[in-house]
Amino acid sequence: MENCIFCKIIKGEIPSQKVYEDGEILIFKDINPIAKIHLLCVPKEHFAYLSELNDSRAALLGRTLQKIATLAPSLGLGDGYRLVINQGESAGQTVHHLHIHILGGETLGWE
Ligand code: AMP
Ligand code: ZN
Repeated sequence: MENCIFCKIIKGEIPSQKVYEDGEILIFKDINPIAKIHLLCVPKEHFAYLSELNDSRAALLGRTLQKIATLAPSLGLGDGYRLVINQGESAGQTVHHLHIHILGGETLGWE
């Protein structure tokens, strides 16, 4: 997808601090962390919103959540973590390529 910053990161056209990659997802460090550990998990398939899920993307998302749960201890998240998906501008979505925020590494508050 042209002009998508996360597609450019996936293609290696923009640098990122990768922590995990396989054939269908990439996990990298958020450039502006709001927790001690703040990672972003993106599917390599470009789609903008959670509201664009279809059966195939829903299955991908399920595998992705399972992968995050499996990887969590090795990412320093063994004590717990929070997953966030911002759906739409009102929720604060600024990058229009579906991504899961992975927050942890400390005790998280709830505003
Ligand atoms: P959202 O507000 O849910 O769309 O989240 C977008 C996230 O992408 C924000 O937390 C940004 O800090 C992060 N971000 C934007 N550009 C980059 C980048 N080049 N590398 C890593 N994280 C980025
Ligand atoms: Zn994209």
